[in-house]
Amino acid sequence: MLTARRTIEFRDHLMSWYREHARALPWRGIGDPYHTWVSEVMLQQTRVAAVLEHYAAFLRRFPTLLALALANETEVLAAWSGLGYYRRARMLHKAAKFITQERGGVLPSTAVELRTLPGVGDYTCAAIASIAFGESVAVVDGNVERVLLRVTGRAEEKTAAGRTFVKRQAAALVPASQVRGKEGSGPGMGGLVNPPGDHNQAMMELGATICLPRAPLCLHCPVFALCKTRGEHKTMPRGEVRSKPIAYLLDLRKRGTITEVLLEERDHTASLMPGMFELPPLPEDAVEGREPALRVRHGITNTNYYVRVFQPETREDETLRMAVPTKTRVLHWVPVKRLADKPLTGLARKILMRMKVMKPKALAESVAE
Ligand code: SF4
Repeated sequence: MLTARRTIEFRDHLMSWYREHARALPWRGIGDPYHTWVSEVMLQQTRVAAVLEHYAAFLRRFPTLLALALANETEVLAAWSGLGYYRRARMLHKAAKFITQERGGVLPSTAVELRTLPGVGDYTCAAIASIAFGESVAVVDGNVERVLLRVTGRAEEKTAAGRTFVKRQAAALVPASQVRGKEGSGPGMGGLVNPPGDHNQAMMELGATICLPRAPLCLHCPVFALCKTRGEHKTMPRGEVRSKPIAYLLDLRKRGTITEVLLEERDHTASLMPGMFELPPLPEDAVEGREPALRVRHGITNTNYYVRVFQPETREDETLRMAVPTKTRVLHWVPVKRLADKPLTGLARKILMRMKVMKPKALAESVAE
């Protein structure tokens, strides 16, 4: 653990650096706890660039907690499409309904109360409580954990003792809540400074931009002088990345002036992406010897999918269509113009855009309506 003197130095160096180098992100410096909540849920296990593509459109579609609570799940999943980990969207929606029905539409303001909401874990409740309400509570994500282990020189261990150490060290570093009455620019604080929220965001920013997992930029680090390892920390080997080939059917048809695309609705009891819409998968033997219309790589957690997309060569080419078992799968012909309203998987959306079946602009406009 850092000593009391080093704790103060750490905070000071970190905050000086953060004030100068923090990325300007649309969810920083805002005064709306609901918007903070949405951003923090989106940011879990998701790149900032991907969140930037969806955050504003999602809030245009559901500008208030009540608007989200009144929406149906399909609309919410459609607006979430492309962000992955769809359970987060379902839980966000469920929690919005709960708050509307049971709490008069008011988001709780303490970490302990926030933790009782559906889908809100330790990370999310601490992030909302500190960033939106200025509570002195530590946020611990993978970035924060990495910074703390490297600074203190503690070995990485996936044990209860290891997790307790990180939580205690993170908690010891968080500054106290600001006494009301002092002027400042802290987000969500109505003009007050927000030391806990800013500190937590600075810790995550340090891990995300300087103390990088593979090659930390120690020479640019604001806490270099306090760090025990300075790029020499031994981290545990990460899980092996697997590769998996996968094939999909892209089948289009014309009905008068309307173009439709064949999509499969995933089983609603499936453990992965239940109820989401994707292109119908094809067995490998059905595509042997055929040239795909598109090849694309798609990474999900520790798996790289090497995706090939096949289209029937002529209207009469039934071989590929026959390879999709229609009796055991729920298939829909969806008008191309309605695609943005469907809860598409991220991969389906990527393929449909690359194949110019769906336009990014059309999606944005539709979501914003
Ligand atoms: S000095 Fe290097 S290893 Fe230490 S916290 Fe900074 S970036 Fe990370």
